Amino acid sequence: MKLEDDVETLKGVGPKTAEKLHKYGIISVRDFLYTLPRDYETFETPTSIAEIRPGKIVIRGKIDSLTTRRARRRNLSVTEGIVRDQTGAIKVVWFNQSYRIRQFSPDKEYFFTGEYELKNGRYSLISPTATEVSDVDLKTGLNPIYKAHGSLKSHDFKRLIAASRSQFNLIPDLLPSVPHNTRAKALFYSHFPNSLKTAERARNYLAYEELFELILASRLNRRENDKLKASSIRFKSAAVKSFVDNLPFKLTNAQRRAAWEIFQDLEKSTPMNRLLQGDVGSGKTMVAALAAFEVALAHGQVALLAPTAVLASQHYNNLLQVFQKFDIRIELLTGATKNKSAIKKDIGEGKIDIVVGTHALLTDDTVFANLALVVIDEQHRFGVEQRQRIMLKSPRDLAPHLLAMTATPIPRSLQLTIFGDLDVSILDEMPSGRKPIRTTVLPEIYAKERLYPQIQEVINLPPDTKSHGSKAHGQQIYWICRAIEDDDKTVSEITSVKKRTKKLREVFPRLTIEFLHGKMKPAEKDLIMERFKAGEIDILVSTTVVEVGVDVPNATMVIIENAESYGLAQLHQLRGRVGRGASESYCFLLTTGDTKPSKRLRELEKSCDGFHLAEVDLKMRGPGEIYGVLQHGALDLKIASLSDTKLIARAQKDVDVFLKNPDNLIKYKELMAGISKYQQITTLN
Ligand code: ADP
Ligand code: MG
Repeated sequence: MKLEDDVETLKGVGPKTAEKLHKYGIISVRDFLYTLPRDYETFETPTSIAEIRPGKIVIRGKIDSLTTRRARRRNLSVTEGIVRDQTGAIKVVWFNQSYRIRQFSPDKEYFFTGEYELKNGRYSLISPTATEVSDVDLKTGLNPIYKAHGSLKSHDFKRLIAASRSQFNLIPDLLPSVPHNTRAKALFYSHFPNSLKTAERARNYLAYEELFELILASRLNRRENDKLKASSIRFKSAAVKSFVDNLPFKLTNAQRRAAWEIFQDLEKSTPMNRLLQGDVGSGKTMVAALAAFEVALAHGQVALLAPTAVLASQHYNNLLQVFQKFDIRIELLTGATKNKSAIKKDIGEGKIDIVVGTHALLTDDTVFANLALVVIDEQHRFGVEQRQRIMLKSPRDLAPHLLAMTATPIPRSLQLTIFGDLDVSILDEMPSGRKPIRTTVLPEIYAKERLYPQIQEVINLPPDTKSHGSKAHGQQIYWICRAIEDDDKTVSEITSVKKRTKKLREVFPRLTIEFLHGKMKPAEKDLIMERFKAGEIDILVSTTVVEVGVDVPNATMVIIENAESYGLAQLHQLRGRVGRGASESYCFLLTTGDTKPSKRLRELEKSCDGFHLAEVDLKMRGPGEIYGVLQHGALDLKIASLSDTKLIARAQKDVDVFLKNPDNLIKYKELMAGISKYQQITTLN
């Protein structure tokens, strides 16, 4: 068995299955073997039906009399059946799982695991999991469960893996200085554990391998960056002081510290490679402005890249204002800019000092005369390739300095791994006078009684005038929905932007209610945002497109629907759209149905600290959530124990030892080939 061969070479994998696997990125034998179980079910001795008691139970039996019906409450289907063993029979019930009706065959035996409880006056087994007895290794009582990939279900993965069972010992080791056959054993026991302990130990090793690769990649990135040359920019203390003195507010200490760290980087002749991390509203833009100011004074050009046109023009206007008294030329370049070619010409001739723009800046015909600093706002919004493009826009041999900014706090454990060799500045202090945003988790069904009165109050709608609203009445509201339009094909509990807008217009006919989403044309989106900024819109119903950095201080309430479907980091970002002015701000997190809000969401009621929330997310939902926000879906760790600081520390130490011997970089070919993927992820530029 060769790891780099196509999956089709595996026993039992025909062309059709191979095609399906390819579709999900499972191309090679390696990809396939590293598709590990997402969980392990355990079936201790099942209880006989005659002896069951209320609570969590495991029973083993056959099922019949399956029926499914719609409940009186909308959007709910009820599937029922009878499970029997030699000692008796009980009723089982599933909600909204109508596929169960086709899942079972009457003569097969299954394990059922779930809660046996009183519902509507009768004891039943509620929403149990069901596993075919023949799927379970009855010696260990374990059933590894694989994530379904389209029509390939857990069961299929098991069958395919089992076909290769005898060949695992052919898998070569990846890392130096591990006992022989370590990787082969780890993979084998992940798929065929003889106890939960062995499975855990095996996965732990695979996690270590991944961390090793990740950390090695980030160390190598650092080496590469250090080989580049950049123009050194001398710190001009008098000019910076007068600039700061002229600002309408005092910089926070955190802003001063970050700016100072940046100034020191800019003086070096290797390019700066710095990530500026700060919670929403912590004032990152001003720090970027200080860096831009220094570079412009030294006659270097600055490119400030923002993910949306709205954000770019917001930055542009802010910079125009703070640089008013200085001889610095600033231009805006977005898709909607009229005289693009004239601006590009001036950029090419070095006549523009600072250009603020969107993806429009990335086109081939934008060439800088002397690009010395690139600032990327909301860096996770850009793909690796886009970030690389802007960095290559200087025609000279010098690489630009890079300042990337993000509002997503990166927990320390992640910082040590993915961004291990990056310089990081942190804004851990808010400008003074900010109040915490009052946050309430609320089941959607109470919205009418709890939320609507407060909406009236915030918008300050006079109760008895008959005027139809064409301008805002008071403060403004964001209303965030998960989807743009209702999907007719699936019964879903998600209220779309379109539907919510319609509903709100019915409830509040005198308010100006508009919507915003990613499928609108950029010009349309900008127009809506401009009107919202100007206070002409009372409620803006939107998808998460408003998440990114928009600053409208008069908006003081944000309502987020289907809140349970987001990560805390993202909810915190969305919440950060309000709380930007002097008045009290509110956030309502609406949850689906009438279920009790989760502990996870309740964290948002308690805390406005992005770092704390990111840690909670990392613990409760795993790292995928944070990468999702951070890094445009690039990092796909299979086993990732990025909250395991001990394992990280061990991998770091081993990487250091590995790097001490330069021959290793040549000797371990497979390792080196694999990490090029990680190198892309861990780099900023
Ligand atoms: P973010 O870090 O989320 O990008 P911004 O840079 O948009 O935050 O800043 C948020 C708001 O705070 C802006 O209106 C900005 O002008 C203001 N601001 C920035 N620094 C300070 C400060 N030191 N004191 C008061 N207000 C500040
Ligand atoms: Mg910002």
